Amino acid sequence: MNTNESKQGILLGEVEINRVVEWQGAFAPARTLVPDAQAELWKDSEAWLAPDHWEPGSDRAVLALQTWIVRSAGRTVLIDTGVGNGRERPGSPQFHQRQGDFLGDLARAGVRPQEVDIVVNTHIHGDHVGWNTVAADGGWTPAFPNAQYLIPAADDAYFGPDNGYGKGLREDDRLIYEDSIAPVHRAGQAVLWEGVHRIDEHLTLESAPGHTPGSSVLRLRSGSERAVFAGDLLHSPVQILEPSCNSCFCLDAEAAAASRRRILERACDEGELLIPAHFAGAGAVEVRRAGGGFTAGRWIP
Ligand SMILES: [Zn+2]
Repeated sequence: MNTNESKQGILLGEVEINRVVEWQGAFAPARTLVPDAQAELWKDSEAWLAPDHWEPGSDRAVLALQTWIVRSAGRTVLIDTGVGNGRERPGSPQFHQRQGDFLGDLARAGVRPQEVDIVVNTHIHGDHVGWNTVAADGGWTPAFPNAQYLIPAADDAYFGPDNGYGKGLREDDRLIYEDSIAPVHRAGQAVLWEGVHRIDEHLTLESAPGHTPGSSVLRLRSGSERAVFAGDLLHSPVQILEPSCNSCFCLDAEAAAASRRRILERACDEGELLIPAHFAGAGAVEVRRAGGGFTAGRWIP
């Protein structure tokens, strides 16, 4: 993988990638986040899991909430938009009424809101759609006034009002839809897609269901370079080692594991750099086959 470091981030072919980290830290007990990953799996890989992905002392998984900035074919694309500011999230105390300087950090990375052309929500969970909107006039309005927002149709249907906002299972899901998705629809900026959606000659969205009904990945191809923004197909590198292990947030266990394995297999076969939503530290890693499974190769900062 030829990753020329640029001032802004890395270049893959003609596509430049940068990121803004909204939050990073010890998120939850390792066994809570990835219930089926045994203690030995973490311990045996401590040398490279700690400190970026695991805090051995507290046995907590370390995650990042981050937005990938992708400049491709003359346009600026944001992949996932974090938790946002000032959100009512009773089910998620860590991010309830959070205040941070995400838009300032985005500006320091060279992106002003009006310059964003496309926002990709890999799926509709609260940590992927928050900065879709900002507070305005006692309500919420799109944060990126000129952007098209690409939202998986299956998630929009599942988490939308016609399905009781995710079958009414979590109050947070209703709040998330109402403050981060509905305003984008009202502004006429939402584009729902299913199956495969080509953004430009380098970028293609592809459905990879299981974590949520509409969970998706974004594939990048430019020249000989390949990458896959894998969203929440993986939360921790231990899931590279044991792809059958789901996170506690995966809604359909069987489908989530199948999508994870499919994406990892293809990443190996086609030499795609793996860029999940929540990997802290370098954030991107090469994947290699090992026995019947996979292992992490070189990390790309
Ligand atoms: Zn997430």
